Amino acid sequence: MDFLEQAGKSLDLVGCSRWTREDVVRFQNRRLRELVRHACERVPFYRKLYRRHGLEPGEVNGIEDLGKLPPALRSEMQEAAPGDLIASGFDQKRLVKWRTSGSTGDPFTVCRTWFEDRLLQLLRIRQLRRCGLRWTDLRTSSAIGERPASSRWNLLDPRFTILRRAPVNILAPAREILDRLAALKPDVLVLYSGILAWIAAEATEEDLRRIRPRFIVAVAETLTPAMRQLIRERFNAPVYDFYGAHEFNLIASECVETGIYHVEDCGVIVEVLRDGKPCAEGEAGEIYGTALHSFAMPILRYRLGDLVVRGPAQCPCGAPYSTILRIEGRVVDRFPLPAGGSLHPYHLVVPLTRLNNWVRRYQIVQETIDHIRVRVVPMPVEPPGEAQKAELLRLLSEAAGPGIQVTLELVEELPPAPSGKSRLYYSLVNSTK
Ligand SMILES: [Zn+2]
Repeated sequence: MDFLEQAGKSLDLVGCSRWTREDVVRFQNRRLRELVRHACERVPFYRKLYRRHGLEPGEVNGIEDLGKLPPALRSEMQEAAPGDLIASGFDQKRLVKWRTSGSTGDPFTVCRTWFEDRLLQLLRIRQLRRCGLRWTDLRTSSAIGERPASSRWNLLDPRFTILRRAPVNILAPAREILDRLAALKPDVLVLYSGILAWIAAEATEEDLRRIRPRFIVAVAETLTPAMRQLIRERFNAPVYDFYGAHEFNLIASECVETGIYHVEDCGVIVEVLRDGKPCAEGEAGEIYGTALHSFAMPILRYRLGDLVVRGPAQCPCGAPYSTILRIEGRVVDRFPLPAGGSLHPYHLVVPLTRLNNWVRRYQIVQETIDHIRVRVVPMPVEPPGEAQKAELLRLLSEAAGPGIQVTLELVEELPPAPSGKSRLYYSLVNSTK
């Protein structure tokens, strides 16, 4: 599939901001049929998976038939040979790659064509526009480390004067983040929820006089009511929560009028399932997604691992999207440090997900104030050598900082976390939530 063919396909979306619910469903049905056929014909992983379940692509005519598709499990996709996940005809080397930490702690690489990636970014911008983004606004984005978050092909970004975006290193100390924001003076503050709450608490009156966003978008972590109130009151601006994942980009975002989450139905089909059955309104279940614009690496009925509460079939504001009432997953504890201050566990996630390819799953637990235990389930195919383990331990210790002992354990299975805690990382020292 070449660029023009992909661009032609997405013409389907022209005018989608005026779609009715029927238009949205018609689009999803058509896309799903195409994707299932495409995956069966051109992606070895899905061909094998569907053959094993005796499924013929013709059996899936629309979202009503989603239940016939066996879910694609991240663990199975992780173990598949990388070439098995990519559709024939796509050059793997030219795809945009996103290494996701995975909300259940299974790092995984998602690939898209440049065009697919930009299209999803446009859907996100469309939602930011609904919240009040102006073309000339400067907005921030979360960067892990000093590396700018934007890719080199980011035509929507700084070289043009519209849709400007400035990366902010969220691993920096609060003082540095606040100084950078005071210098940038962003019109729209877009950062991880936990970082927003943290800097809201740390900001001085002088900081707050200098940092005056028109609105704030919280991403990547659960935004609790207490966090929201703190951020809104300190920065004196409305706060909207965006829920997304690397696999899909934006999945749902808060309605400006009602506070219910609108699902990004033009980019992803969301299912909320409990014991494999769709949840009714008000019921909590696990979220599964089907990416509607991913042809290079199709993602069909993919289990994200987050817990959400299904909302009404349509938002009372009249928007044509399905809804989610609450997102329960994604709570992150900061780790308190012996010398005062705190450490965001993402510091340790970076070496685990970015710098090596042998980590299958991980768990980071602060056992005592000066001891962090990292458990890793290695990939079964190529277990790491002593040198690789030592290197990872060195990077983890460096990330944790002085005065903290890090131990690295290779295990076959991760022990369950205490209830209510994120399984990925948690602190036994104290709970900030
Ligand atoms: Zn709404």
